[in-house]
Amino acid sequence: MSANRRDFIKFVVAGAVTAGCPMDLALVAQTAESHPGGVTVDSENNQICHQVRDGKVFSRPPASEKHDIVIVGGGVSGLAAAHQLQHRDILLLEKEPHWGGNAYLMEYEGNAYATGAAFLEGDSEAVRLAKEIGLDPLPVNDGSDGAIINGVFVPDVWGTGLNKLPYPPITRESFKKFKKEMLSIDLEKRASELYNVPFSSFMKLYSGEVKQYWDTFGPSNWGAASDDTAAYIGIYTVQEMEAMSAADHRVTWPGGIGALTKKLADVLQPKYGDRMQLGATTVAVVPGKEDVQVTYMAGADLKTVSAKAVIMATPKFITRRIVEGLPDRQSKAMQQIRYAPYCVVNLIFDKPVFNRGYDTWCPGNTFTDFIVADWVIRRKSGYKQKYNILSCYTPMAEENRALLLTEAGTRKIAANVLRDFQNLMPAFNVDPVEVHIYRRGHPMYMSTPGLYTNVQPLTRQPMDRVFFANTDSEGPVSGTPEGIVAARRAVRQAEAKLAGAPAKEKAAVG
Ligand SMILES: Cc1cc2nc3c(=O)[nH]c(=O)nc-3n(C[C@H](O)[C@H](O)[C@H](O)COP(=O)(O)OP(=O)(O)OC[C@H]3O[C@@H](n4cnc5c(N)ncnc54)[C@H](O)[C@@H]3O)c2cc1C
Repeated sequence: MSANRRDFIKFVVAGAVTAGCPMDLALVAQTAESHPGGVTVDSENNQICHQVRDGKVFSRPPASEKHDIVIVGGGVSGLAAAHQLQHRDILLLEKEPHWGGNAYLMEYEGNAYATGAAFLEGDSEAVRLAKEIGLDPLPVNDGSDGAIINGVFVPDVWGTGLNKLPYPPITRESFKKFKKEMLSIDLEKRASELYNVPFSSFMKLYSGEVKQYWDTFGPSNWGAASDDTAAYIGIYTVQEMEAMSAADHRVTWPGGIGALTKKLADVLQPKYGDRMQLGATTVAVVPGKEDVQVTYMAGADLKTVSAKAVIMATPKFITRRIVEGLPDRQSKAMQQIRYAPYCVVNLIFDKPVFNRGYDTWCPGNTFTDFIVADWVIRRKSGYKQKYNILSCYTPMAEENRALLLTEAGTRKIAANVLRDFQNLMPAFNVDPVEVHIYRRGHPMYMSTPGLYTNVQPLTRQPMDRVFFANTDSEGPVSGTPEGIVAARRAVRQAEAKLAGAPAKEKAAVG
């Protein structure tokens, strides 16, 4: 597509500079360490976060309120904790102007699309929670995913598609042999070994295209390419795909898992009113003998509240900067977690462009895969697809994080996504009416070797009255069910503390 043609397409950037702190704190934290002069991002919210990052101690006004439990972070983990604590006097603090964190949906003319989490496995904690709050999961029902390779759409890549891959026969054989080897591995028997070695160590004997496939699939699903992925996770996925090829248990909604966080917030809001605060950036969590003092900034005001217990549902790169008195070992474990920067680029077409598969992989492009936003409702009686919205998942290498700092850098990434998309197949050379980009600096932790067995158990150790939720406490991959599992554990621990019992869970050291 020529630059001229692109000039007429409207690019809308969300997240980061417009939405405020989480990504900018994250981005600038890393960039500032490597560039001591720092990076300036224009936004009042960011200023607060930059100051937290730089170790500024905010003046802490005396506590003006008391609560049983303060929950910091209104992503799926914080919301799930709040949902479980409805019998308690809680306060939920979220620094963004909306709930949902990395599971957040947006709309174009009333049509929902995902800006982050896309789907759930059928029997997960998240599906159970959805049903509990009256949100019926809709089946994806597409078998295992297809891919577009060398201009050809191949459905069910790791099932029937293996015979149809548009590669030379020797490469196709290599894919088949790789699958056979992966299926023969006894995961449970070799778990402790496989969680600690890279997935790529199993690819040495196979063609480069096999590695290319997984270096596309991994970053979108668990933040990391095969060199940085724990082998267990990759091999487990190959085995799961075999099962999925027979029966697809995935479920979702238009807008992906953002539909779940939206519903959770809708259920909780009438009950809690002003005890669910948006635009409230927590700057300090200070444990004392009888309580924990939580200081947050809402608008221009700093406020402190006292809590009997605090649940930190924020990602650890933020948590370790705001919780005072973390044991050195725990803080260092939190620091070891690596996070992939990520854009989701929604291409909005006013005509059908692609409706052949739910989640389609595109090895060798700027983006890894794309999802049809209204897939699970497109066949409902009476539904007519007015806009074909395709959500292009665009995980990035850590070293490119700073590109997201500016609107120009972000638009360039989106323009490259559009260019690559339009080159995939001749039928895709159509201009979208709009391109919506949601950028995040550190949304998905990388499932690196050793993370699940050695690092995460240390990060989630309770600290007297402070408890640690968020998906990055649990693993083995960043997922909404893991965020909910983390919330349930933190709630259990907080309740035990309030009941006067010592917290029992111990760190497993691998
Ligand atoms: C592009 C993408 C695709 C994904 N796809 C899937 C998928 O298909 N299925 C799946 O299960 N998972 C998926 N995931 C992972 C899933 O989105 C996350 O694991 C999950 O949303 C994490 O929820 P959380 O509440 O643990 O953390 P977060 O979503 O990170 O929530 C933390 C919240 O804390 C807030 N916060 C941070 N600092 C402060 C502060 N100082 N004060 C107050 N609030 C603060 C943040 O703004 C945020 O809202 C995907 C993730 C991404 C990025």
